[in-house]
Amino acid sequence: MTTAGAAPRTVLVLNSGSSSVKFQLVEPDSGVSVASGIVERIGEDTSSAKLKIGDQDLHRAGAIADHEAALRTVFELFEEAGAHLDSLGLVAVGHRVVHGGRALFRPTRVDDALIARLTELAPLAPLHNPPAVLGIEVACRILPDIPQIAVFDTAFFHDLPAASATYAIDRDIADQWQIRRYGFHGTSHRYISEQAAQFLGVPLENLNQIVLHLGNGASASAIVGGRPVDTSMGLTPMEGLVMGTRSGDVDPGIVFYLARAAHMSVEDIESMLNRRSGVLGLGGEIDFRELHRQITDGSEQARLAYDVYIHRLRKYIGAYLAVLGSTDVITFTAGVGENDAAVRRDALTGLAPLGIELDEHLNDSPARGARLISADKSPITVLVIPTNEELAIARACSEALDDAGEERAWGERGAAK
Ligand code: AMP
Repeated sequence: MTTAGAAPRTVLVLNSGSSSVKFQLVEPDSGVSVASGIVERIGEDTSSAKLKIGDQDLHRAGAIADHEAALRTVFELFEEAGAHLDSLGLVAVGHRVVHGGRALFRPTRVDDALIARLTELAPLAPLHNPPAVLGIEVACRILPDIPQIAVFDTAFFHDLPAASATYAIDRDIADQWQIRRYGFHGTSHRYISEQAAQFLGVPLENLNQIVLHLGNGASASAIVGGRPVDTSMGLTPMEGLVMGTRSGDVDPGIVFYLARAAHMSVEDIESMLNRRSGVLGLGGEIDFRELHRQITDGSEQARLAYDVYIHRLRKYIGAYLAVLGSTDVITFTAGVGENDAAVRRDALTGLAPLGIELDEHLNDSPARGARLISADKSPITVLVIPTNEELAIARACSEALDDAGEERAWGERGAAK
């Protein structure tokens, strides 16, 4: 390891879920990922913690009681790897926070007031914000001298045009309850649209883009000159595309019908739409690799799940082609978007009259990294670009610190004390 003061500055990016904490230590300036890992099944007897740093893979199994124990275990693993905390050049901890509500969109330094505001926002993102708050509180306790910064998944879509951000519902109720289309995966949509411009060597301002973030969660966005003009997720991350376990768009009438006719509670319906719908709910599988295997084996339910997924995706692509008027580039990203050539093909096949022609050979290539997959003659360029939300969060934190004039690493401050 490099000695304190000489290490490049790093940001520890935390993504805290209800029973897991994903982390990555990133150098925001070089983009290098120094270390990464995950603590899973927190609160169970079968918890596990993993750290990958350099060529070392460390693993610990056994009960990890809570998020505080999880983070402490992570730091113990760093120590075990010979990477002492004060030699890591840590300048900030960046927290991925799903929902920032109407008011929170810039990367924001954590203090008691922010924690209170995030706690107030919990009803808007009941599955996501409470664990993020927990992660923030724990990190503040364990690393009290390091700036903690919240980066919001909704931030990029904060200035969506009113016509796309507004639901056509009673205006007073919408105002009173902060109901609007917020959009999510914003860190990824922003990062990918910037990377696409860089890949093409064209200024971001000159491009009309569609970004398709297809992972377990899935969302689409239409972006004009770097500013989003529409996105598929709404008040919550449930709207829009069919996802791994979420339904995406449904008739809200389904909710009332199930409440009245099936006597399901709000919680049951929410859980069904969030956790037992989408590709899992239809096909019994969340992983697209398995879904394809089952389709090959003749499973009709897997086929239907896939067909519904593709149909919805094509509907959104068509909608965004119309929203944009003219489109320069469509980019696929995230687990499915980066890896599943069949999804990309089936999403775009037959769209030559709309200006989209894939190069089948490029699309099927096992290449990784940013790449072109459209034919030379295709008026609309199609790309695959791996997303890197951790790097984008680390850079947002580093920019926020620079703006506040806090550039020195914690190791340097520690040494200067
Ligand atoms: P993410 O949420 O971006 O991590 O995406 C996770 C999802 O990506 C998984 O549930 C799979 O459905 C999908 N995925 C990952 N690798 C592949 C692959 N090689 N082929 C097809 N789908 C994949």
